[in-house]
Amino acid sequence: MNSHAKQQYDALPYPQVVVVGGGFAGLELIKRLEGAPYKVLLLDRQNHHCFQPLLYQVATASLSADSIAHPFRRSVAPMPNVAFRMAKVTAVKPQEKLVVTDHGEFAYDILVLATGSGTNFFGNTAIEKEAMQLKSIGQALDIRSDFLQDFEAALYQQDEHSQKRQLNFTIVGAGPTGVELAGALAEIRRTVLKREYRELDSERMQIWLIDSNDRVLKNFSEQASAYALKYLQDMGVNVRFGARVTHFDGELITFQDGSTMDSRTLIWAAGVKGMTLPGLEAAEVPKANRYNVDRYSELEGVPGVYALGDVALMTEGKWERGHPQVAPAAIQQAVLLANNLLRKAEGKELKPFTYVDKGSMATIGRFKAVVDVGNIHLGGPLAWLAWMFVHLMALVGFRNRLQVLMGWAWKYMSWKNTIRLIIRPYVRQVEHQAVETPRG
Ligand SMILES: Cc1cc2nc3c(=O)[nH]c(=O)nc-3n(C[C@H](O)[C@H](O)[C@H](O)COP(=O)(O)OP(=O)(O)OC[C@H]3O[C@@H](n4cnc5c(N)ncnc54)[C@H](O)[C@@H]3O)c2cc1C
Repeated sequence: MNSHAKQQYDALPYPQVVVVGGGFAGLELIKRLEGAPYKVLLLDRQNHHCFQPLLYQVATASLSADSIAHPFRRSVAPMPNVAFRMAKVTAVKPQEKLVVTDHGEFAYDILVLATGSGTNFFGNTAIEKEAMQLKSIGQALDIRSDFLQDFEAALYQQDEHSQKRQLNFTIVGAGPTGVELAGALAEIRRTVLKREYRELDSERMQIWLIDSNDRVLKNFSEQASAYALKYLQDMGVNVRFGARVTHFDGELITFQDGSTMDSRTLIWAAGVKGMTLPGLEAAEVPKANRYNVDRYSELEGVPGVYALGDVALMTEGKWERGHPQVAPAAIQQAVLLANNLLRKAEGKELKPFTYVDKGSMATIGRFKAVVDVGNIHLGGPLAWLAWMFVHLMALVGFRNRLQVLMGWAWKYMSWKNTIRLIIRPYVRQVEHQAVETPRG
């Protein structure tokens, strides 16, 4: 925005809408408010939208980080009534209609919270400190560097036990993220490790998928769970059910039953919690870390403040415990709120939200995916192609789609994940502390 554009934006005689978070919900909302009689300000702590469903492919060196990220400025540039500021929102003052950020305060007439969710460690600080997580591009790059560093380090290990511990990858949580990561690591063992780390015995790399439930993908149909389990086992992933991890010190995992397992890498994919903000505690649902909203996405008891996507908890129809924390729910809520804001501007009656569940899908590896759509449960190559098509079309920006398509074509035809570069080495917490507090 040049100074002229800024003056034009500032002079717009419209209500100020502040949108916090440019994820699936926030981005959809601002796109639909382009040209509307609202002055919109998007605030995000990142300068880019992140397409989270493909994060695991960045983590496993199949896709480059920029192919699943899109700069907000590129989205906002053609929208005269929308501005973007990179800022972390730290609190909301609903009485004064202000959001507090690390770059000062912003006034709003209408506030939309679309802050998404973070990893839920359920209060276990030891695991939180040592485990890896997958919610952002930075974390995906950490996982990528970590497994590549482990491969390199294993070559220096003198004995079989140390080598096995270095090459033990444990994923906690057998939901879509855990299943997809485990499958991708198994493909890396079968291709990259075998071909390019010839001095290592690839059998020494073990992948563990741990869950306290009794099936993988517990929110999918039983058929889809069974397909996914078979694919994982065929690929050599060790799946352990009914096991609860209680401690991890960076080297050793402890389970609730007292048993232990050596593992240098633990990736925590066992839960999410809404990214709520200080100042709006009264509207929070205890334990759920989500805002209680009505069917118009407005926070209960806080007029003019709305919540969308993962951070919102709306009950309607069969969704007594809220909608699933997935992209389609976030997008559909944003579409309805945008339409309602337009109706409001025209003095028309608002419409309540009804979620249209279009089904679920997850991929485990090449030609191996599962799809649930109503009573149809698909597995195998057809499901895999459907998964690829849906994800490709959902990406933001033509360049990203083309890049992902080329990346997949190259990977699945050549099995050469070429993005295996350790650019910014991952430093574990324990090692980090050792460097910061040298002994002697
Ligand atoms: C690894 C992974 C895989 C997934 N796979 C799938 C899948 O296959 N299919 C599917 O439908 N869903 C999937 N999901 C879930 C899906 O990504 C979320 O449901 C969706 O992103 C929620 O959208 P949202 O707009 O609510 O939040 P998000 O998309 O998470 O966006 C939140 C935004 O808010 C910003 N933000 C947060 N806090 C602040 C703050 N204090 N100040 C400023 N900005 C802030 C963040 O930077 C981010 O840009 C996956 C999620 C993950 C992590």
